[in-house]
Amino acid sequence: MALPTGKMKLAVLTSGGDSAGMNAVVRAIVKIGILRGCETWIVREGYEGLVKGNTQAHAIHADLPTVATAPKRAHGGVSTNLIQNLRFGDGDLLRDGTGDHHHGRTLKGHYIVRVGWDDVRGWFAEGGTLIGTARSATFRTPEGRLSAAHNLIKEGIDALAVCGGDGSLTGADVFRSEWPSLVSQLLAQGKITEEQAQKHGHLKIVGLVGSIDNDMSMTDLTIGAPTALHRICEAIDNINSTATSHSRAFVLEVMGRHCGWLALLAGVSSGADFIFIPERPPETVPGRTWEDEMCEAIQRVSQSPFDISYYFKPPSQHRQAGKRKTIVIVAEGAHDADLKPIRAEYVKDVLSERLGLDTRVTTLGHTQRGGRPCAFDRILPTLQGEEAVKALLEATPDTPSYMIGVRENKITRVPLMEAVAMTRAVADAIAAKDFTKAMSMRDPEFYQSLEGFVATSTLFTEKQLPHHRRMRVAIMHMGAPAGGMNAATRAAVRYCIKQGHRPLAVHNGFRGLLDDNIHELSWLGVDSWTSRGGSELGTNRTLPDVDLGAVAARFQEHNFHALMLIGGFEAFNALLILEEGRKHYPAFHIPMTHLPATISNNVPMTEYSLGSDTSLNALVDACDSIKQSASASRNRVFVVETQGGKCGYLATMGALATGASIVYTPEEGMNLDTLRRDVKFLNIRYGLDAKGKSEGRLVIRNECSSTVYTTDVITKMFKEEGGNLFDARSASLGHTLQGGIPSPMDRARAARLSLRCMAFLEEHHDALQRQDGKVKQAPPESAAVITIQKSALEWVPVQEMLQHADMKNRRGNTAWWKEIKDLTEALAGRPDLL
Ligand code: ATP
Repeated sequence: MALPTGKMKLAVLTSGGDSAGMNAVVRAIVKIGILRGCETWIVREGYEGLVKGNTQAHAIHADLPTVATAPKRAHGGVSTNLIQNLRFGDGDLLRDGTGDHHHGRTLKGHYIVRVGWDDVRGWFAEGGTLIGTARSATFRTPEGRLSAAHNLIKEGIDALAVCGGDGSLTGADVFRSEWPSLVSQLLAQGKITEEQAQKHGHLKIVGLVGSIDNDMSMTDLTIGAPTALHRICEAIDNINSTATSHSRAFVLEVMGRHCGWLALLAGVSSGADFIFIPERPPETVPGRTWEDEMCEAIQRVSQSPFDISYYFKPPSQHRQAGKRKTIVIVAEGAHDADLKPIRAEYVKDVLSERLGLDTRVTTLGHTQRGGRPCAFDRILPTLQGEEAVKALLEATPDTPSYMIGVRENKITRVPLMEAVAMTRAVADAIAAKDFTKAMSMRDPEFYQSLEGFVATSTLFTEKQLPHHRRMRVAIMHMGAPAGGMNAATRAAVRYCIKQGHRPLAVHNGFRGLLDDNIHELSWLGVDSWTSRGGSELGTNRTLPDVDLGAVAARFQEHNFHALMLIGGFEAFNALLILEEGRKHYPAFHIPMTHLPATISNNVPMTEYSLGSDTSLNALVDACDSIKQSASASRNRVFVVETQGGKCGYLATMGALATGASIVYTPEEGMNLDTLRRDVKFLNIRYGLDAKGKSEGRLVIRNECSSTVYTTDVITKMFKEEGGNLFDARSASLGHTLQGGIPSPMDRARAARLSLRCMAFLEEHHDALQRQDGKVKQAPPESAAVITIQKSALEWVPVQEMLQHADMKNRRGNTAWWKEIKDLTEALAGRPDLL
């Protein structure tokens, strides 16, 4: 890790409403702080703890080892900051259920507590915040903040990381801007010495956004929002089956006072029929109410003229048209264009009375906050925690306080107050009924998701394209199944129907194409595909060069105007072959796109493929269970084998998301030297555990890391070398990693990226139509892959991708996630211990 180091006394607190991932923030900041030479502290109960400080006389943290007292251990008494900070004999901080114990002593009267490395061990998998959170009225007062400043200075703390919502981050900024005057007041009152005032002239502050609503501007995601979305989608998936069984409508109320992100993304991810969000009240035309609009939209879907049942049922009978369920999602802050609140109960009454639907209301309430953090809420806080420590170490009195955010796949740093001001401006715009402005201040992903929801949930066919612009779009799945493939197909199909295109499913890849296994898909036919795992179209690895001439002939016979491939490395390879085939076959002179979908995430140039989030979650779930069993027997190392082919992405990100100690990837390979070092490291680490307090540890090994040092071989090796210190077992996750039900993030991204693909195909189809002459020449850039690169979506022509591809090993030439491996190992303490 190329991070600056420095002596800093660094405290972290969580504030406002709790969210999943807050513990991962604390863990990351404590561990990375220690690795960078800082002394680390936690503040219990948010700002309230800062105001109260330490009222008891005894120093709760006095037993933390110092350089002089660090015990000599098996590794030869190496004295590093990490060794000094390992909590010998603990690991149970605040986990006894009362939140009041630390190293066997009561924490009563102690709110600012020094912590060491092992104090935060295992915090990853816990929901909420173990250090407590509160809403502090006292901190809002100048006296409260004076007391908070005094308490920090008494402990010598000069840097503060705050994880909370916009209120908490506002508080942080107020605190920092007032800091010089607070120090002067404390000096004038004789509460601190001149020396303390000199030393604490500047408070370094950084903000991390912990909020389940995803309501902060200037970041795509807030910590806890992905887990809340998981909880909502789990609930809707469960409701779907009962709704379908009883032919019912369900109205779900979800959290989100000023921000409709949860309602919107839940709507997209679960294939809901209608949503209500604060930023965009339902649109109405003069003489019609939103109730009219909603009822019409819901009836239309069920009366699709594209479904055969339409012609046999009386249109007025909703359920008889084929659709057996209706899901409406209402954000708690939803309202109409006049700011009159829209409540779930009222929506239910409208659906029951006007459409005669058997309608139920489900309010998810606090279930949305709880539960184990999903993979993203472990990875994001860890990466952001790293950035937060870096920002603090680099802070000077002249730099602004930063908020750590994320844009697509890039961790960002933005001025905290700008982000808070923009967040407030959204709420102000809503209050002023300026909904266009409110929408413009949400991030682009939000806007695209809303557009996507509208395009795929309601069957408006009035605005179809003129005939010459319509396409026959072939949609094909390739390679192994990955979560989100079906959701992407559903979005593409529905968009096609809305625009007047014809969506043609090619079943079983290029083999199916050669067998003419092609069917047109319908609006209702794909209705429940968002939550389905596997591949509804069927998939295999056959490439078009199995018989390129015959493939071209099929393209021609079926008169394909565009092709959308959804799959992994094979799909990329297939697109390459088809593009090269344009030299010989005019049928390939059509726009063609590849949407990466593979759990291995091995498509070159993109940092994200559909399915990779689903499999990371499957891996996290499995490893949480394994770790629990390993902890039960305390001193056990579990060697977990993952899929991923010759790409170490899944193993590496999985290791980061599960807190694994060692990770093996095909890119780095394995040899006797690395194994010897790893055995030594495990021996040192277990040697440092206090008696009876050893923990289970994970080693994650990609299936192709070595043909000689297999999972079985290294497990036996660890067992043999662990002696009395530790035992070893193995587990192979195999195909479970392809995941059952796709994760909400994969579903939502599937819909968003799929619609971008459709827009790409339309654009290039239009350009081809404008060409003179009978024989159309598709330019190379009309065969492209949609990629996510750092903070942006990029179209990369497939020929350009070739330069970045390692065709032999079926992966990209560069592994952007390589640094993540270093971070994972750093968080296991490895470099400092060896
Ligand atoms: P959530 O998104 O869950 O509501 P939040 O951080 O926005 O989280 P708030 O209750 O608004 O939650 O703020 C949390 C705490 O931050 C407050 O209780 C208060 O102690 C502090 N705080 C908020 N605004 C200010 C302010 N303007 N000045 C000082 N402190 C503040």
